[in-house]
Amino acid sequence: MTTWSIVVAAGSGTRFGGPKQYGPLAGRRVIDHALAAARSVSDGVVLVVASDRAGHAEPGADVVVAGGRTRSDSTRAGLEAVPDDAAYVLVHDGARPLADTHLFGRVVAALAAGADAAIPVVDLVDSIRRRDGGSIDRAGVVAVQTPQGFRADILRRAHASAGEATDDATLVEAIGGKVVLVDGDPDNLKLTRPVDLAVAEALLAQVGR
Ligand code: C5P
Repeated sequence: MTTWSIVVAAGSGTRFGGPKQYGPLAGRRVIDHALAAARSVSDGVVLVVASDRAGHAEPGADVVVAGGRTRSDSTRAGLEAVPDDAAYVLVHDGARPLADTHLFGRVVAALAAGADAAIPVVDLVDSIRRRDGGSIDRAGVVAVQTPQGFRADILRRAHASAGEATDDATLVEAIGGKVVLVDGDPDNLKLTRPVDLAVAEALLAQVGR
């Protein structure tokens, strides 16, 4: 059973103020952390980058391809580069350098146990409210992270309709795929604001990474 990972890093970092995935973090680039963790459970890694970087080889990736306008477009571009014989495909945000090998391992273990899709989730700490009024009981909802793992055939079918979502599990569920939740990691930040880099640096130092 071969496993491939797609690391999506073609975002422009609008909220961050630039392409954060190439910034320095604990002696490496942000993207190198994500590539190394993906590599730990994968037979191959596809890195999806902005089109102006697609010509450059990346040491941590087997294939580098150009992404698209949206995250879903970028996943699809990565998926096209995954070999047909891959059994499982993991999709991971390049902007999440704190996802460790244990987290990747939990996702792969759920796939090996028969899940169509396995996604890491964490509890919410804030109260949750709809913009148009009314609260949602936070005990009934979770925040969804990456890496998200899928049976390759199901992920390909989910993306065949060119749907759009902020994550891949949403598209898999839309075609009837069953999504299994695994324990995420509260430290698995998605770098969004410049200050998140300092937070990530401190979290990595705490665990000696
Ligand atoms: O924008 P968002 O926070 O959802 O981005 C999550 C991940 O998706 C980031 O790693 C970003 O680089 C990637 N992305 C992409 N192509 C896009 C938009 C986002 O690869 N068009």
